[in-house]
Amino acid sequence: MPGTLLDEGWTGRAADGDGAAPQALRRRQRRALATAISGLSYAIDLVVLGLFWRGGAAPGGLLPVYAAAAGLHVLVFGSLQLAGVGENNANPNFTGLQMAWAIALQLGAILWAPALTGYFVGVMFVVFSFGALRLPLRSALGMWVLISLLFGLLLWKMPVLGAMQPQLRASPWVRAAAGIGISSLLLRCIVLNFRAMALRARSLQHAARLAAEAAAARERATRDGLTGALNRDGLLPLLQHELEQVRRGHLECCVAMIDIDWFKSVNDDRGHLTGDRTLRTLVELLQRHLRAGDQLARFGGEEFILLMPATGEPDAVEVAERLRRLVQGHDWSALAEGLCLTVSIGIAQAHRDDGIDDLLARADTALYGAKASGRNRCCVALQMAG
Ligand code: GH3
Ligand code: MG
Ligand code: MG
Repeated sequence: MPGTLLDEGWTGRAADGDGAAPQALRRRQRRALATAISGLSYAIDLVVLGLFWRGGAAPGGLLPVYAAAAGLHVLVFGSLQLAGVGENNANPNFTGLQMAWAIALQLGAILWAPALTGYFVGVMFVVFSFGALRLPLRSALGMWVLISLLFGLLLWKMPVLGAMQPQLRASPWVRAAAGIGISSLLLRCIVLNFRAMALRARSLQHAARLAAEAAAARERATRDGLTGALNRDGLLPLLQHELEQVRRGHLECCVAMIDIDWFKSVNDDRGHLTGDRTLRTLVELLQRHLRAGDQLARFGGEEFILLMPATGEPDAVEVAERLRRLVQGHDWSALAEGLCLTVSIGIAQAHRDDGIDDLLARADTALYGAKASGRNRCCVALQMAG
């Protein structure tokens, strides 16, 4: 019975899936399932009550009435949830109503079979424990006040309780102790549950923070600290993936190895700091003008690799030439007076049987060709261009 208040977190996984509609349906089904599980809990109660009845401790009529009330509970709330009634309510599980139903049933059962008060009070604790998982603290406290009042009334006014404990009728002190004891136990039960929920929320937050930190660390590990471009570790898996596409005959792919001309003299003449700023500015400049899908990585000191997926040699040459002219035409004087910068670029297209080293070696050879033939130019592996 108390399973009525099981929440989604207890019964199921987080919603995942494609559209919003199937998600909403799954949410409804999960709620209804939680209510169906409460039917299981009621079934346990019925077995226990059956044993009590067999032993002569429970009146015969209690069992069918308890079973009817329990069945009605599952039927009513399960149908409401499946139909999506109250979907937009703050609490679409009808937690408060389900608690009220379940507790009213326990109070009724206490009246009918006072000898079993201990068992029904125990069930109330379970109801409260699950209810506290779903209800806001204020509602749970409201529910507690209500139950305490009802229970107090029962204890004070109903001589039937005396059937279980003759002292209850005999001494107002004992009745006060029983009332305050049970009421305060319920309250402690709520407080404990909310404390557990707060701890759970904190540990979830903690886990989310750790996951975010791990993602950030992974991101940092694949980025160059100075320029923010991908580093070698960031590039190689992408390159490997593209070579795989080429190997399967799906796509073409080119790389361009870009090296700053005479960069050492920038450092020597303008200082290392200006050299650093020049590297950062170059990356910003190139990245602003990359085509979607192309990836720029810093491969060494002043050497960069441009990965161009789904690109054949003629297009790659065009892209490289455009970037070369961009660098040449950029106004670098903001970094240091009179500073001019050019790059040399070696381009290579991937062959089907290429490994990463083969492809990069050809791009490097092409770059060497560009340097050797005067710098500030593009060369294609095995043939000159630009
Ligand atoms: P070339 O045209 O033949 O490429 O000449 P170069 O001067 O560019 O080539 P070289 O290999 O002789 O020098 C590369 C320079 O790049 C040397 C090194 O000080 C500089 N460098 C490498 N990494 C960094 C860096 O992170 N910051 C700065 N400021 N300089 C760097
Ligand atoms: Mg250089
Ligand atoms: Mg170099």
